[in-house]
Amino acid sequence: MENHVQNFKCPFCEGEMKKGYIQSGTRLAWVPRVSKAIIEPSFIKDSVLLSKQSRFLVSNVDAYLCERCKKVVLDYS
Ligand SMILES: [Zn+2]
Repeated sequence: MENHVQNFKCPFCEGEMKKGYIQSGTRLAWVPRVSKAIIEPSFIKDSVLLSKQSRFLVSNVDAYLCERCKKVVLDYS
């Protein structure tokens, strides 16, 4: 199963997803609601931090893209 990330299947159309990254100048987080204030994501209650990098570096998280469905699946493990 070493190459399973190479052919990640889209959960919607089962087509091949493109491996890449979501990149940001700030830390990336899933948040339960959008905050109007730009604050450090780890300060938001119930947020899930997706990128591990310091907030002073460019953050990235593994992402799989389906251009057909316009979906992105993130892997923040
Ligand atoms: Zn798809």
